[in-house]
Amino acid sequence: MERLQKVIAHAGIASRRKAEELIVDGKVKVNGKVVKELGIKVTDQDRVEVEGVPLEREEPVYLLLYKPTGVISAVKDDKGRKVVTDFFPYIKQRIYPIGRLDYDTSGILLLTNDGEFANILMHPRYEVEKSYVAKVKGIPARDKMKLLERGIQLEDGKTAPAQVKVLSVDKKKQTSIIELRIHEGRNRQVRRMLEAIGHQVVKLKREKFAFLNLNGLATGDSRELSPHEVKQLR
Ligand code: URA
Repeated sequence: MERLQKVIAHAGIASRRKAEELIVDGKVKVNGKVVKELGIKVTDQDRVEVEGVPLEREEPVYLLLYKPTGVISAVKDDKGRKVVTDFFPYIKQRIYPIGRLDYDTSGILLLTNDGEFANILMHPRYEVEKSYVAKVKGIPARDKMKLLERGIQLEDGKTAPAQVKVLSVDKKKQTSIIELRIHEGRNRQVRRMLEAIGHQVVKLKREKFAFLNLNGLATGDSRELSPHEVKQLR
């Protein structure tokens, strides 16, 4: 038994508050009857309709994938390339990635079929910390790194302050390994931030998403999140 507004929110069509509004406005039917009270609970057997559209209800699932490079963060690709959901042929629910990693980026990526959970984690207000390790061309000067720490102007606006660290430098090859911790999730953000200070990214991996890391996983491996981890992320 779950509260009606929670069931609607989980289906990903509205936030919990918006779901409450839909109910109060008489736009939700349970077993063919309009329900306007907020307290009501439903079971898996109850048929829920929102604005005339039946709600597809599935058991929620929460997955962590160590995404390899050369994989698209989507559920299908027009060009037939490998997508992140291909790693879960045994999952019957309609899962999708929470946010994206570039085709050429490896690392931690969460997938779910819980729309409310995905919305929370992607909402700019709650954007969780993500930690990236980048291999770049050249050796960044201290003042350049400071620019990233303060926030840097990109074509879609200034970035929020980032935490940056040079982890190692290869003077002979003229490359560096840099750790960058950010809360935002704009398209190709890390690559663009590093390019903005003159250092092209040659390799990029996301090592952490909030408190989650890739410990014990090899590239292409995955695991389910524990109920405790899901609760901590909400
Ligand atoms: N920033 C990038 O540039 N690429 C990613 O895949 C993730 C963050």
